[in-house]
Amino acid sequence: MIELSDFDRFGVEGMTKEEYIEKQEDVVKNCLCMKCPTYVKGDAPTGYCFPLVGTSRIIHAEKNCICETCPVYKENELDHTFYCTRCSELCQTQKKQVLSGP
Ligand code: SF4
Ligand code: SF4
Repeated sequence: MIELSDFDRFGVEGMTKEEYIEKQEDVVKNCLCMKCPTYVKGDAPTGYCFPLVGTSRIIHAEKNCICETCPVYKENELDHTFYCTRCSELCQTQKKQVLSGP
């Protein structure tokens, strides 16, 4: 059986609320989304790859995704893209697991 910890790339499992907030702030600080052609000015918070940020309410058209050039992406060994429209790293991994079956 697959456990959350198997794809918890940000290591959020077991974090205190304070640690979680600190990690999220760090992700948002280093996030490159505002330089991305898909990004719609004014949307916040960015750092859409992080577990509970959620997708954007105003970004709908996917143009290009520059996540793979982001330090957060490399540091945390992320696997997906278009987090702003498709949901977080954890969420996309869970969807993929469900679709690939038991
Ligand atoms: S990987 Fe993408 S969504 Fe995550 S912080 Fe970097 S640019 Fe932002
Ligand atoms: S998640 Fe990817 S596509 Fe969306 S704004 Fe960030 S870099 Fe661009």
